[in-house]
Amino acid sequence: MKMQTPYYLIDERKLLRNLKRIERVREESGAKSMLALKCFSAWCVFGLMKQYMDGTTSSSAYEARLGHDTFGKETHAYCVGYTKEDILSVKKYADKVIFNSASQLKRFFPLVRGAKLGLRVNPGFSYSHYDLADPARRNSRLGVVAVKELRAVSSLLSGLMFHFNCENDDVDNFAASLDRISRRYGKVLDAMEWVSLGGGLYFTKEGYELGRFCRALRAFSRRHGVQVYLEPGESAITQSAQLVTTVVDVVHNGCDIAIVDASVEAHMLDLLIYRIPAKIDKSCSGKHRYTVAGRSCLAGDVFGTYGFRRRLHPGSTVLFADAAGYSMVKKNWFNGLGMPSIAVQRLNGSIDVVRRFTYNDFKNNAS
Ligand SMILES: *Cc1c(COP(=O)(O)O)cnc(C)c1O
Repeated sequence: MKMQTPYYLIDERKLLRNLKRIERVREESGAKSMLALKCFSAWCVFGLMKQYMDGTTSSSAYEARLGHDTFGKETHAYCVGYTKEDILSVKKYADKVIFNSASQLKRFFPLVRGAKLGLRVNPGFSYSHYDLADPARRNSRLGVVAVKELRAVSSLLSGLMFHFNCENDDVDNFAASLDRISRRYGKVLDAMEWVSLGGGLYFTKEGYELGRFCRALRAFSRRHGVQVYLEPGESAITQSAQLVTTVVDVVHNGCDIAIVDASVEAHMLDLLIYRIPAKIDKSCSGKHRYTVAGRSCLAGDVFGTYGFRRRLHPGSTVLFADAAGYSMVKKNWFNGLGMPSIAVQRLNGSIDVVRRFTYNDFKNNAS
């Protein structure tokens, strides 16, 4: 039976490939991996993910609570700017509370006695292809910059967090960065129990030298006597979901344009922000060229231009690949378009539709 589109289809068997690599990193390097919920928070597959990962990390009080409630194990809380209410909430859910600035740490530490406290450090260098996502960009607000400022508060801390990578698939660059961090912060690091090296490391990518990655992590951990944490978002779930859509119309204006029952703006917003085309599932590719567009009223709601194996007509299926990370978490009700359902293909091959959205979800999102 054909399921009603659009829907996100998460494939646990594809997820498992990433999870096994994460497990290997823990075994070979000792580094624990915390899922970054801001990238992926589809808790319908946490039952599988928590068998291979050590917990979750968050960007807000709600994410910290979601991690605690749906994933369990260790919960790290981080937020660029906590309110007092956030702090009172996260202290119920988090094992570690990580602050973004020395001023927030000094203001709130008396409220979180008992939790392990951490501070984010901006090492002044980064790896990112996009200025928008560069944590060490000019005038960045992300983390403490001055070593002196860090030293002044280090007695309150049990750990530090360095998140300075975005889509970094270069293991030599990463190993060199660890050495720079050791040289610059060595004394402070030696006094810590744990260090989180953040996310943005593409270590589950095909061809990535995992052995070398693990050796660099283990050396860093031994050098400073710290438990290392990684915070994979994209690399935990990469290539594990599709957005399944159906063509609703084909129009012509200088080219053939297939309009599908989903939208980039509403359902894969990250692509629009970074101006990158959607990936089409390889199983569809061939010689018939179409531009595939969304059905929101935004003129630039375009997924991309692709060659298809067959001509597209209303009713044809179009599969977008890699729809898990930063897509599902950013889905929105722009234009009041029908929200893609969420389905999971389990390890045994069976498909569960775990969530369907209705008009009432749209209505309740406004007031
Ligand atoms: C975004 C983010 C992550 C996850 O990044 P990915 O690129 O998805 O791996 C981890 N830690 C922090 C602090 C982040 O801001």
